[in-house]
Amino acid sequence: MRKSLILYLAIIIVILSFFNLFSTDKSDLEIFEGKLKKMGGEWFIISDGDFFQLNLAPEEFLKENNIILTSKEQFKTEGVIINEVINVYRIHTENSIVELRDVTGNPLWQEEKQIGHFHVNPKMCIGCQLCVSVCPTNAISMVHGRAIIDADKCIDCAICEIGNGDYKGCPTNAIKKQE
Ligand code: SF4
Ligand code: SF4
Repeated sequence: MRKSLILYLAIIIVILSFFNLFSTDKSDLEIFEGKLKKMGGEWFIISDGDFFQLNLAPEEFLKENNIILTSKEQFKTEGVIINEVINVYRIHTENSIVELRDVTGNPLWQEEKQIGHFHVNPKMCIGCQLCVSVCPTNAISMVHGRAIIDADKCIDCAICEIGNGDYKGCPTNAIKKQE
C-alpha cells in the first residue's frame, strides 16, 4: 500500500516536472543584476561573480526603446539561461521595463514579420540542428545553440514542424506556426 502511494507520488512529480520544463511562462524568468562589459562586439554581465553573455535585440531596436548600454554600467534584466548565454526577455530601466521577447521567447522586433510564419520556442529547442538541413529556403540557422527562423525566407511549407522523408519533424515540438 505504502509502495503504491510512493509510486503514485513519483509519477505525479515526473508529470509536473515535465510541464514545468516545457512551460514558457514568464514566472520561469530569472533576474540578473550586475555590471555590463563589452567584449568582441558582444555584451556580457557580471552577476553574483558569474560571467554571462547577453543575447539581446538588434541595436536599432534597443535605441528605439531608449536602451543605450555602457560598459561598467549597472544592469538589471530578466531572462533564461541557455548554454551560459542569457536570452534577455526584459530590461529594467530606472523608470520602466522594456520587453525584448514575448512569453515564448520570440523576438518582439520581428513580431510583424513572424505573424503567419513558423517560429522556434528557444526553451524547447535542444539544438539538434535536424530542422536546419531540411528547410528548402535555408530559413533556419543556429544562434547560441538554438534554431531561429528567418521570417523573410520562410515559405510556410511546414516541413520543419511536421517532417519530410527521414526527418520526422522537430523531436521536441519546438517549432510552431504563429497565428
Ligand atoms: S529540430 Fe527542433 S530541437 Fe532540433 S534544432 Fe530544430 S527546433 Fe531545435
Ligand atoms: S516552414 Fe518550411 S520554409 Fe519555413 S522555416 Fe520551416 S522548413 Fe523552412
